Amino acid sequence: MDHFLYNEGVLHAEDVSVAEIAAEVGTPFYLYSTATLLRHFTLFDEALGSMPHLVCYAMKAASNQAILRTLADAGAGMDVVSGGEYARAKAVGVPSERIVFSGVGKTHQEIHDALTGGLRQFNVESEPEMEAISEVASSLGMEAPVTIRVNPDVDARTHAKIATGKSENKFGIPISRAREVYAMAAALPGIRVIGIDVHIGSQLTDLAPFEAAYKKVADLTEMLRSEGHDIQRLDLGGGLGIPYTRSNEAPPLPTDYGALIERTVGHLGCEIEIEPGRLIAGNAGILVTRVIYVKSGEDRNFLILDAAMNDLIRPAMYEAHHDIIPIVEATPGAEPATYDVVGPVCESGDTFAKGRHMPEVAAGDLVAFRSAGAYGAVMSSEYNTRPLIPEVMVHGHQFAVIRARPTFDEIINRDTIPQWL
Ligand SMILES: *Cc1c(COP(=O)(O)O)cnc(C)c1O
Repeated sequence: MDHFLYNEGVLHAEDVSVAEIAAEVGTPFYLYSTATLLRHFTLFDEALGSMPHLVCYAMKAASNQAILRTLADAGAGMDVVSGGEYARAKAVGVPSERIVFSGVGKTHQEIHDALTGGLRQFNVESEPEMEAISEVASSLGMEAPVTIRVNPDVDARTHAKIATGKSENKFGIPISRAREVYAMAAALPGIRVIGIDVHIGSQLTDLAPFEAAYKKVADLTEMLRSEGHDIQRLDLGGGLGIPYTRSNEAPPLPTDYGALIERTVGHLGCEIEIEPGRLIAGNAGILVTRVIYVKSGEDRNFLILDAAMNDLIRPAMYEAHHDIIPIVEATPGAEPATYDVVGPVCESGDTFAKGRHMPEVAAGDLVAFRSAGAYGAVMSSEYNTRPLIPEVMVHGHQFAVIRARPTFDEIINRDTIPQWL
């Protein structure tokens, strides 16, 4: 459920007319709903309610500081995957003990900065990385709390580019070698092993792969404990999928997911962490864009928008579907039209949808891509020297620009011409 609904024929974000925001901010822009973000966070928090837990929002999904502050104020921790994300989390005042550092390629500098700035734990993905953390922590006279990310070799049955839990993926260490790697970690100076981490992929619409992975984690916990490791914390990753089409069968709910966690690992008495990104931000954001032209081709009509693949890359990168709806509600019973929906970038890949049935629209009309809150703005670029589009946030009847559109001069002046030219 989200808070983007028609009110008297015009799409609203909570209590604000999207058309009014467009008139003030200009198109295209991302638009987030505070109430939706909070609703999704609270669903997870309550689903784990019976166990000691922390919901660490995977901020790579949408990392504007206004989003982070909203969630952190509600009690969320953060899952960060880079030094930049760590700095962002600190900048909005997320307490160190709520920041988890994930990612396969943490550099010495990133490890150093996180240790000195403070963190909850590193989720370690390889032996060389464990050695690097040991080195840096020892040189600082510190002890780094770590979990080891194990790869449970389960098929998440999601898009190949977002599956991470099979043995052929670059993530984590094979669960079959966990015993050895935990023993190695326990012997290293500057390392305090506190738990196990697992994350099998993104946009999972079925709970079965989670169940298979978490059962393996439960068995591993008992095995490692019997070897003398103090396993107190289980980080169970993110990955719960969202409905990208309204007609779709609904993906599992956070409550079912919470019950599954309780069933598979609840008896171990561990503190539970989860790292949802998409389910918190995905349906809390839309991309608002204007139709520039409707172009009649030989056998099809093209809807040419002022948003492009540089603003929202998911269709080009993952063949992702986003529902596209008009800001002014279609007349009930009107015949739908069929379009290839494209952006102005000089690439055939700049296609959002082919043969899309949707309400008929005309040049100048506003439309919105639904479910664009996660992996939208964060993956955008300035390809074709198209300015990064603004981000706007709504809270009840208020809205604010939370990242302004840069001017052409600001973009161009970032370049430096060398003195020999
Ligand atoms: C991307 C990622 C997540 C979040 O995945 P979602 O599908 O957005 O929930 C969580 N943990 C790790 C380690 C990730 O890489």
